[in-house]
Amino acid sequence: MTEFNGSSMIDPFGRAITYLRVSVTDRCDFRCVYCMAEDMHFLPKKDLLSLEELDRLCTLFIEKGVRKLRLTGGEPLVRKNIMHLVRELSRHLKSGALEELTLTTNGSQLARFADELADCGVRRINISLDTLDSQKFRSITRWGDLDKVMRGIEAAERAGLKIKLNAVALKGFNEFEIPDMIRWAHGRGMDLTLIETMPLGEIDADRTDQYLPLSHMRAELERQFTLTDIPFKTGGPARYVEISETGGRLGFITPLTHNFCEGCNRVRITCTGTLYMCLGQEDAADLRAPLRASEGNELLSQAIDEAIGRKPKGHDFVIDRQTRRPAVSRHMSVTGG
Ligand code: SAM
Ligand code: SF4
Repeated sequence: MTEFNGSSMIDPFGRAITYLRVSVTDRCDFRCVYCMAEDMHFLPKKDLLSLEELDRLCTLFIEKGVRKLRLTGGEPLVRKNIMHLVRELSRHLKSGALEELTLTTNGSQLARFADELADCGVRRINISLDTLDSQKFRSITRWGDLDKVMRGIEAAERAGLKIKLNAVALKGFNEFEIPDMIRWAHGRGMDLTLIETMPLGEIDADRTDQYLPLSHMRAELERQFTLTDIPFKTGGPARYVEISETGGRLGFITPLTHNFCEGCNRVRITCTGTLYMCLGQEDAADLRAPLRASEGNELLSQAIDEAIGRKPKGHDFVIDRQTRRPAVSRHMSVTGG
């Protein structure tokens, strides 16, 4: 799918880059079992881009045609002074250069930040939530407290933020709970999106034990719900259905059972300024060196153009008994979800 919308960043397959995801920290206050090992080694603080550098980088991407910017991590809301960056970036919403500023969060800090996010022009946020059972929540996040996340969700609702829940579908963990989660989310006016586990980074568990193909999940759901495919899009890779019984939307993000790369409009930068043109490939470009090499943006802009010029056609994730190694060695918390 080719978009012509004023972006100067067009990749070799004609895809316009209009969506930037920025991982503002690799740190997190949770240790979700599919995402991180318990004993993670984080980057030394000196390697991180400062908030000012992140702002400069994002601003250049916006000038080059990015219309939608998502802050992620790690947990974006544990980065010190993160609201300073959000407030700075909100000027691009006011000017109309940016259509949407949003974030993906585990919800643990939302009770503190929801009002300010809304005040900065954030309208929608994604909250990751894999179960509604506090004990299971503790076991999947290792360190998380469901009550705290629930207070965060309530604060976000009160602040008027539109919430989409993301749940990773995990075999033997939440597969039988998903119908209840659908009813719960839709009952509160929230969309829910299910995600297949992706083979990113070494974790303590075996991914073949966790992997639940969403094609199976969908077939299961069709035994109790009426699912109708709808063309609804949020700019991301999810494909949506409407559920007649609840009147709500359910998204499927299926990197393994259905490759969605052909319509890919996004790139990602890490908190050290590395640009990944594809979540599922190793190729990357360092933007920190050109960013720091001069005060002007020419070098940086050139480095971005060169990188977009080699954005790959897509990923090829595989999870099976033969393919035990992760597709890429970095964790999701490095590149950002
Ligand atoms: N900490 C924030 C959160 O959890 O929402 C933002 C970063 S987190 C890496 C972004 C999303 O990636 C979350 O929804 C998480 O469930 C998902 N995720 C992490 N590791 C994954 C994996 N290996 N496969 C699929 N999704 C994954
Ligand atoms: Fe943290 Fe999000 Fe990864 Fe869970 S999925 S460990 S909340 S970064």
